[in-house]
Amino acid sequence: MSLDSLIANTIRSDVRSDHIYHVPDASGFVKLDAMENPYVLPSELHHALANRIASVALNRYPVASYDTIKQRIRARLGVPPGYDVMLGNGSDELIAIMAQACALQPAEGRGRAVMLAPAPSFVMFQRSAMVAGMDFVGVPLQADLTLDLPAMLAAIATHKPALVFLAYPNNPTGNLFAAGDIEQVIAALGDQGLCVVDEAYEPFAQQSFMGRLPACPNLIVMRTLSKLGLAGIRLGYMSCAPALLEQFDKIRPPYNVNVLTQAAAEFCLDHLEVLNEQAALLRHQRGALSDALAKLPGVNVFPSAANFILIRVPNADAVHAALLERKVLIKNVGRMHHVLANCLRITVSTPEENAIMLDGLKAALAA
Ligand SMILES: *Cc1c(COP(=O)(O)O)cnc(C)c1O
Repeated sequence: MSLDSLIANTIRSDVRSDHIYHVPDASGFVKLDAMENPYVLPSELHHALANRIASVALNRYPVASYDTIKQRIRARLGVPPGYDVMLGNGSDELIAIMAQACALQPAEGRGRAVMLAPAPSFVMFQRSAMVAGMDFVGVPLQADLTLDLPAMLAAIATHKPALVFLAYPNNPTGNLFAAGDIEQVIAALGDQGLCVVDEAYEPFAQQSFMGRLPACPNLIVMRTLSKLGLAGIRLGYMSCAPALLEQFDKIRPPYNVNVLTQAAAEFCLDHLEVLNEQAALLRHQRGALSDALAKLPGVNVFPSAANFILIRVPNADAVHAALLERKVLIKNVGRMHHVLANCLRITVSTPEENAIMLDGLKAALAA
């Protein structure tokens, strides 16, 4: 039997022609490519967490209601009264669940459902649309990386998307779209489409649409603990009108958040002030790093409300390669979209790591 024909006869053609999502191996590098928080917990907290995790019953399934963790999120993270949250194995899983819930079946006789997002934005939006069988429409940002509202409204009228994703702040650009523009997108969708405001960087932007949930039944607010300092545990959450949340919950695998994540998240949510202090430090360092970058000849710095900074340099490929030589990993987004030509995305880290990156960048620009 030929494995090639076996795969051709069984696996979807769009999956077969797709490529694997590449994550570079970062061992030995100063890792500034993935918006991780460089700080760890203070050692006494770390020990208390280790004890807590050691007592987890690994032979048992998680308690499926996830009540404790949800209650802490509702109480501490600004979820409006009467609103619940749904948890995901990272917000990546929540994006996939929403796409699966909105993708139309051929039997419904309405063609394929559409997901719409600005371009460039978070790559998992488009990937989740593909996997779920939704069409994806990307609406280019303007050259200054702001939302092109007339183009968004026109695309909504033409394509009638079931799902619109707006990352607030946007990744990989780092800016916050104007709140008034987002309100207009939500209003234009009406009862024909859902608007997901992805607030992965909320700890660094300190701006949120969470409080607007009661006024906007078609609004979904999604967040994650990843950028706040817990990327490794994979926990995302989302909130929206209860009747809508219930629909998504039908697709969620019942034990999607594992017991180790559950224990670690409960513990960290009880010590949220520690993570919030780290976020405040990083916001401060974002300012210092932006200023230092802006002083470099030939570097254009875009405003950031996130824990990363987008810059434009004369030759992004050369700078990226030179930093790799020095064991500094940043993200070259210059070929992702035409509005990002020669752009690099740099995670804000400790003053020490930022200084190593800046040294390398200076040397690369001088070469
Ligand atoms: C990093 C990021 C996420 C990632 O979420 P996980 O919870 O780690 O899966 C989601 N949305 C945006 C815009 C991001 O940049």
